[in-house]
Amino acid sequence: MESPVISFTFDDFPRSALLNAGAILRERGLAGTYYASFGLIGKKAPTGEIFTREDLDELIRQKHELACHTFDHYDSWDTAPDEFEASILRNQRAISERLPGTGFRSLSYPISWPRPETKRRAATYYECARGGGQTFNSGTMDLNYLKAFFIEQSRDNFEAIRQTIKVRARRAGRAVTERRRIRCSILTFYYKIISLSAGYILCIQPEQLRYYLLRFAKG
Ligand SMILES: [Zn+2]
Repeated sequence: MESPVISFTFDDFPRSALLNAGAILRERGLAGTYYASFGLIGKKAPTGEIFTREDLDELIRQKHELACHTFDHYDSWDTAPDEFEASILRNQRAISERLPGTGFRSLSYPISWPRPETKRRAATYYECARGGGQTFNSGTMDLNYLKAFFIEQSRDNFEAIRQTIKVRARRAGRAVTERRRIRCSILTFYYKIISLSAGYILCIQPEQLRYYLLRFAKG
């Protein structure tokens, strides 16, 4: 794959991330990845109301990807690897009970970066796992800790986002020795080169997301 690709992901999956942001993506024929913690279902969070059972049907209908964020939304660093792994398994049981025949293919680490042992265990369950870092992925990547750029952290500074894309575009002009294509989702989304996280939609406005999409489309 020669050109940069952006993947839109939503952590925690507040309802507005699907109802507002999901609709904006669908307007453009795009789909996103929603990292869900089933232990939070129906709860109120600082980001708003978390997804409900009915939202899952809508997510599937809109052909977005549902992915794992641990059942308990455990802190990836502060939680012992055994506990973290048990929470992954709880989340997998929860999805198979609510959506039989459906499973997760990727994980995003809640709250902080993972311990090395936690990362090793996550790799046995998923094709890839996403972290943070406010940058993009290029060249040789760590599939168990793919980087992401949280848009809401730069929501008032589009220049920071634009610079990230520009730097990536410059690097694309050079020879890249390893071009491992990573099919990461059930849709045509690839965690390759640049992975942007739209984070909490409550923290960015729908108009901002529309604006970003327009700018991303122009490169
Ligand atoms: Zn989270």
